[in-house]
Amino acid sequence: MTDIQRFDLAVIGAGPGGYVAAIKAAQMGKSVALIEKEYLGGTCLNVGCIPTKTLLAGSQVLHTIKQAEKYGIETGPVKFHYRKMKERKDNVVSGIRKSLEGLIKSNGITIFHGLAEFVTPQEIKISGDTKQLIFAEKTIIATGSDTLDIPAFPCDHKKIVNSSSILELEELPKSLVIIGGGYIGCEFASLFVELGVKVTIVEALPSIIAMQGKKLSDFLSRAFKKKGMEILTETMVENIEQTGSGLKIHFKGGGSIESEMALVAIGRQLNTKGLAIEKAGLSLTDRGAIDVNEKMETNVPGIYAIGDVTGKAMLAHVASHQGLIAAANAFGGSLKMHYNAVPAVIFTLPEIAMVGMNLEEALKQGYEAISGQFPFQALGKSIATMQTDGFAEIICDKKTKQILGAAVVGHDAATLIAEIALAITNELTLDSLTETIHAHPTVAEGWLEAALIANETPIHFPPKIRKS
Ligand SMILES: Cc1cc2nc3c(=O)[nH]c(=O)nc-3n(C[C@H](O)[C@H](O)[C@H](O)COP(=O)(O)OP(=O)(O)OC[C@H]3O[C@@H](n4cnc5c(N)ncnc54)[C@H](O)[C@@H]3O)c2cc1C
Repeated sequence: MTDIQRFDLAVIGAGPGGYVAAIKAAQMGKSVALIEKEYLGGTCLNVGCIPTKTLLAGSQVLHTIKQAEKYGIETGPVKFHYRKMKERKDNVVSGIRKSLEGLIKSNGITIFHGLAEFVTPQEIKISGDTKQLIFAEKTIIATGSDTLDIPAFPCDHKKIVNSSSILELEELPKSLVIIGGGYIGCEFASLFVELGVKVTIVEALPSIIAMQGKKLSDFLSRAFKKKGMEILTETMVENIEQTGSGLKIHFKGGGSIESEMALVAIGRQLNTKGLAIEKAGLSLTDRGAIDVNEKMETNVPGIYAIGDVTGKAMLAHVASHQGLIAAANAFGGSLKMHYNAVPAVIFTLPEIAMVGMNLEEALKQGYEAISGQFPFQALGKSIATMQTDGFAEIICDKKTKQILGAAVVGHDAATLIAEIALAITNELTLDSLTETIHAHPTVAEGWLEAALIANETPIHFPPKIRKS
């Protein structure tokens, strides 16, 4: 170990939270150490957002090709090679990782490859590829989260896999049971069902993506079932038996199902182990998250925490935004993190996106909330592209017309939700949407029409009271 090195800021973890915070601080003229024990880009780039969306993009191309005949296009037999799809995914990830390293270095940030561990609140020991003791005026913890092993059915990473090891498959199984119908489980379900795998989702709650409310959950369940997927709700896996040819998955209270492979997609563990947080004097919440306030400050002055490890909305863009706030606050800022306009996307087919409150939540919060919903069957662009499955829904306060939330299901939902995130962040009302000229024909017109319906002035939808 060489002499202690001094930095204005140490950032532990180079996921979308950590590296964004590091760049922000470097822009402010600070000397920054970024410490990463595995790969730059964290979960998101290496085993999360990017690899899954790369594979999903391939399955969506296949889906479109299968529809070709409906557009008057003859294709002949269509084949795909999963190994090549996986190879493309690996190349995308390594390509972005390389660019990211260049970006970080171009900001003058010092990267340390190794495990960071507190020695005191301001001293961090790095072990691994690099061995170094550093002193940092301020520290941002961005250690993220990891897959969670369930003791009753631990992963062997061959037949029982998790969301990381499933990304290493070279060949597809014939059948796959996905344990957990949250957004990660559903995205994998969507990917593999499009590729012809027999998929069953086993979910302990009464519905899949239960957190997103009944309307979205019902829509996705119907779409999945149409593709031949089986969904077992209110069903808990007790244990998994290895058989000669595959697995027998036993349910609590009796019953079982056979499958070649099982994906465990239940929950994530927060990465606080190995950090020696007790030496920094940090407190944790009941859930084991690092306790932070809205300024991303921990209980220890000068130490901030961001991203998944804080146990808030566990999304890459939330981690990045928290990173910007923590870095600004570490050096004289006084910014606060707000969660009322966080967009969330489920990249299934059909795609689902939401922001703010749904109608039930808005009513529960005491708003006199109303909603306007416009079906894509009535949109010119959706009809032209044969993407009519879905809708756009706006939730607003009846009196003030302030936009409180929105949901969109269907083609390009992920991109569409940005308009309403902007509207909610800036406390806009229905009028701002109806007075905004939306290009025609586009799916974004769905927002205009949904706002007009909420306003009880629909144009491309029959009025509540028909005149003939
Ligand atoms: C399958 C899957 C799909 C996902 N898809 C999406 C999506 O589409 N959109 C979205 O917004 N979110 C998605 N997520 C969630 C997203 O990946 C996380 O919310 C995001 O990566 C959190 O960022 P972070 O910076 O907090 O932590 P992470 O990305 O987890 O990064 C933390 C980093 O810290 C490092 N680290 C940990 N401990 C130490 C230590 N002691 N010393 C040094 N380094 C350390 C880790 O190695 C890691 O690289 C997905 C997650 C999964 C699993």
